[in-house]
Amino acid sequence: MEQWVVHKFGGTSVASAERYRHVAGILSRRPEALRAVVVSAMGGVTDALVRTVELAARRDRAYLEQLDQLRRRHRETIVELVPPETADELLERFDRDFTDVADVLHATWLLRSYSPRAMDLITGYGEVWSAQMLAAHLRSIGQPADWLDARQVLVVSHTPTGIEVDWRASAERLDGWRERAGGLPPILIITGYVASTPDGLATTLGRNGSDFTASIFATLLEAGQIHIWTDVDGVMSANPRLVPDAVLLEELSYNEAMELAYFGAKVIHPSTMAPAVRRSIPIFIRNTFRPEVQGTRIHLGGSSDFDVKGFATIEGVALVNVEGTGMIGVPGTAHRLFGALHEEGVSVTMISQGSSEHSICFVVPGHVGERARQAVERAFFAARHYGQVQTVELVPDCCVLAVVGDRMAGHPGVAGKFFGSLGKAGVNIRAIAQGSSERNISVVIDNADASRALRAVHGGFYLSPQTLSIGVIGCGVVGSELLDQLAEQAHQLKSEFNLDLRVRAISTSRRTAFADGQLDLARWREALESEAVPTDLAAVADHVQAEHLPHAVIIDCTASEAVAQRYEDWMARGIHVITPNKRANTSDFAYYRALRRTSRENGTRYLYETTVGAGLPVIQTLRDLVQTGDEVYQVEGILSGTLSYLFNVYDGSRSFSEIVADARARGFTEPDPRDDLSGMDVGRKVVILAREIGLPIELSEVEVEGLVPEAMEHLSVPDFLEALPSQDEAMAALFEDARRRGEVLRYVGLVDREGRASARLRSYPLDHPFARIQMTDNIVLFRTRRYQPNPLVVQGPGAGPEVTAGGVFADLLRLASSLGATL
Ligand code: ADP
Ligand code: ASP
Ligand code: MG
Repeated sequence: MEQWVVHKFGGTSVASAERYRHVAGILSRRPEALRAVVVSAMGGVTDALVRTVELAARRDRAYLEQLDQLRRRHRETIVELVPPETADELLERFDRDFTDVADVLHATWLLRSYSPRAMDLITGYGEVWSAQMLAAHLRSIGQPADWLDARQVLVVSHTPTGIEVDWRASAERLDGWRERAGGLPPILIITGYVASTPDGLATTLGRNGSDFTASIFATLLEAGQIHIWTDVDGVMSANPRLVPDAVLLEELSYNEAMELAYFGAKVIHPSTMAPAVRRSIPIFIRNTFRPEVQGTRIHLGGSSDFDVKGFATIEGVALVNVEGTGMIGVPGTAHRLFGALHEEGVSVTMISQGSSEHSICFVVPGHVGERARQAVERAFFAARHYGQVQTVELVPDCCVLAVVGDRMAGHPGVAGKFFGSLGKAGVNIRAIAQGSSERNISVVIDNADASRALRAVHGGFYLSPQTLSIGVIGCGVVGSELLDQLAEQAHQLKSEFNLDLRVRAISTSRRTAFADGQLDLARWREALESEAVPTDLAAVADHVQAEHLPHAVIIDCTASEAVAQRYEDWMARGIHVITPNKRANTSDFAYYRALRRTSRENGTRYLYETTVGAGLPVIQTLRDLVQTGDEVYQVEGILSGTLSYLFNVYDGSRSFSEIVADARARGFTEPDPRDDLSGMDVGRKVVILAREIGLPIELSEVEVEGLVPEAMEHLSVPDFLEALPSQDEAMAALFEDARRRGEVLRYVGLVDREGRASARLRSYPLDHPFARIQMTDNIVLFRTRRYQPNPLVVQGPGAGPEVTAGGVFADLLRLASSLGATL
């Protein structure tokens, strides 16, 4: 016998005429012959209907406007969906409904109140309209569809333990409907959410109840499968609106799905499970907007690669805490407590009692918190009087956070990881409960911590612990090269070392491109072109320090003082900083010291290897020497790639000014060559080295002998270049002088342990290491107690975007290592 497949389309799937057409398309392409289609109200309509009732009861005339909007929205959708003759017929029918609704609302207005029945009657119309529109549209495109008003078939009663389906009555009525209609159409559109009471009144299955309708009809029709179509790919490991990194769960057991749904994963309604479980009907959760995705399969077995499946929160609950020494060993305390709550009609979400029996706490929906507290007060009136119960405390504005998974049972580390993640995120836990099935652990936390906690625990289980949220500021030559290098390496680092580098913000001085997940580095230039917003560094920091990712780092590739001044704030709030920018380390010593302290106190790393010698290991070498107890006597080096080049090339055959002009043309100097020739760049590097060996030196204390005479300092660049030949003679004289002594000219930076620091032109014999370098080489000699008389030498190309960016990248990997990556 041909089996039915039940499909359910939620409000998100039918929010407009276009979406109804899309749904009709999905249905027309389904392979099965018999399709039962449970449909919700158009997105937002149930909420709007609830509002009209509340407004009318509050005597707010705005309810009329609300109602009118709803009428217009449905009219417009009908006109777009079906041919005119059908539209007229539907419109007429809907008008009658709207008149009825208006009458009930008018009565509500007069009475200034409404009964639950009135609310049920009115809110159910959304589904009644929606089903008719979908059926009419399907017929208009030639599909054999008809609609069924579930109020005529489904009989349910509301009991203290929930909704009970009268299966017999419902089955009989379905048979009756079938007979009257002369059989069921191959596409049967069914109103979700609505039903009747045994005495024939319209009722509903509660908010989000259409999922439940689907599984009830699956039972009545003996369907083989249930497909719940919504706006996400399936059940995710957490609500994707709150946790951008949530992953799709391909399979869940009924139990897991039920616990997740119960604890707030509204993608599926918890009641849905019971009828499906009884008949072992598999449920598929699927995305209307991506029908090609398989989605989640919920079935008996479950199975999975993960011990932990999902995380969910119920916000807006209250915690009641009952404490008293007199409760210890007294039988019947729990009975009295929960008896009192039962009488008050308060349902309890979670209970926790310490084994000392000294306290019991429980969670109730926020809006009944005060009532629950009073009920407990009354129940323990005598006990309080005699001091056996000391406290009955209400903590409002709480949230339950639950972790769910069948296979958590018997897997020791799960609780540890869960609480560890919460602890690291600084989330205070007020109460804990674990079901004895070990399928779920729940904690009560403050509402205000809800999304941070959810993201932290999700990250703890699903992310690589070395997931770095990265912001790159500055896209000049170094920044651009770095992004390109990252683009090339990121994939391999992820697959080989589980190192997850996510560039989530890229800024120039004017524009910033953001991404929630991560920017596609293959096209970061386009992102900056087309998707960028004006740069606001505070917003960049906020975005980079994402709650759901374990670590944040900002890489400053600018030469900006303003950016450098932010490092302290960033590090204080837990953002690591990496930079080739010399500004921070060379501004006043107090700031330098503050950076050091902030880094130490907050456990945030501050890495700047490339501020001296580009990619060469200069800072790291010096630090190793200092930290291992060596005594550094002197550091001397050729620290500017540009000046290195100029004096390597200057051999007396061409004038110095000619060489400068030529180097500038080839891009070896700054656009304004005075930035190099002034010696200030070398001076800054000397400061960085000096501070690294513990000298509290200021930039102004470095004796900098520049190569630009004062008179030329303020000329325009072209005027300067024109004036520069006037210096050639003096430079040639220095050169000759040196040559006569068998020496060459080199521009060097120098600092010794007495604090003497300088940047100046000096001459060196031909057999000195400084005399034998090439091109833009940097070279640094470390003279120390251990390295003497021969110094430790670091030498190699010390300029250029590639090596500098490579050095910054190496700092990033160093950071990752210190965070636990094994590279
Ligand atoms: P529909 O209108 O289709 O019934 P709902 O809005 O009721 O859709 O449910 C889908 C929404 O459920 C998703 O958009 C998502 O925000 C939310 N949601 C909450 N928790 C989860 C989860 N664990 N997995 C997937 N979606 C979830
Ligand atoms: N329309 C109802 C609601 O919004 C039922 C549903 O969509 O499941 O709650
Ligand atoms: Mg729903």
